[in-house]
Amino acid sequence: MIRARLAPSPTGLLHLGNAWAFLAAWLGARAAGGALLLRLEDIDPDRSREEYGRRICEDLSWLGLDWDEGPDEGPYAPYRQSQRLVSYQSAASDLESRGLAYSCYCTRKELRGLAGAPHVDDRGAPYPGTCRHLTPEERAEREASGRRAALRLFCPPDQVWQFNDRVFGEQRFTLAQCGGDFALCRSDGVFAYQLAVVADDIAMRVNQVVRGVDILPSTPRQLYLYSLFDAPPPEYAHVPLLLDHEGERLAKRHQSLSLHALREAGVLPQTVVGAIMYLAGLRERPEPLTARKALSGFAFERIRPQSLHLPRDPERWLLALQGG
Ligand code: GLU
Ligand code: ZN
Repeated sequence: MIRARLAPSPTGLLHLGNAWAFLAAWLGARAAGGALLLRLEDIDPDRSREEYGRRICEDLSWLGLDWDEGPDEGPYAPYRQSQRLVSYQSAASDLESRGLAYSCYCTRKELRGLAGAPHVDDRGAPYPGTCRHLTPEERAEREASGRRAALRLFCPPDQVWQFNDRVFGEQRFTLAQCGGDFALCRSDGVFAYQLAVVADDIAMRVNQVVRGVDILPSTPRQLYLYSLFDAPPPEYAHVPLLLDHEGERLAKRHQSLSLHALREAGVLPQTVVGAIMYLAGLRERPEPLTARKALSGFAFERIRPQSLHLPRDPERWLLALQGG
């Protein structure tokens, strides 16, 4: 039986792009007669807000998406990452005690200063291996200077990780291509997305992962973690991104495209679902559609890998769709 998840990070309100990814996850699970769980990925205390978690749940329900297990109840509780730290700690300690991880004393600033490092975050910053082979003396020196260590995983750089994405097809990556040794835990003690998501998906028996293609480069890292934990990986369907009329990814500055703002403007959920299904090439016309009705004919293989493009004034477009 399929077990899938909706895994929002409560760091802002849902926008149309999030709505598309969650709709796809919901459709994939429901079309297969599977179960869905909702997990709040509030692992980063600096960015997460309880209020966003609540509003995300409201927005998902408004859109017509439901779940069988979640923050309120379910056999694998708790469904909030902030309440699962003990399990991340034990996963990290396990890897460390097996000699698979090491302390990294690099500061963000040092990593950012590296030529060719585009950005420093949990997901993609290439790590040059600076702290891979510190001698005990070098380590002691850094400890003595008061530096706090992140925990990094030794990643065999050249081993090929392969998976068959249900939308993007056959994928092959080495971990070197995905940024090399990645962090399991930041120097401020916050566990990394990669570790938390894999630990949770294993614990919650998730076997179908649907998410935006922006996360696809993380998948080989996660496959490596599955192999280290000796757990079978899920199947993957990464979905193309929804872009604005200028081809930009939706972000915080697109507040007017939050589901909340659209709802306030009078847009109906079935208008949003119908419009998204049309933009994704899953319906010929942008006609209103409930999430339930969108199930008919759904298959990941029918999703094109090309990005979805919004028209210039999405709010006006959506209102016009329901007006006429
Ligand atoms: N919580 C992650 C995000 O919102 C999703 C992680 C995942 O689906 O693996 O970006
Ligand atoms: Zn380092």
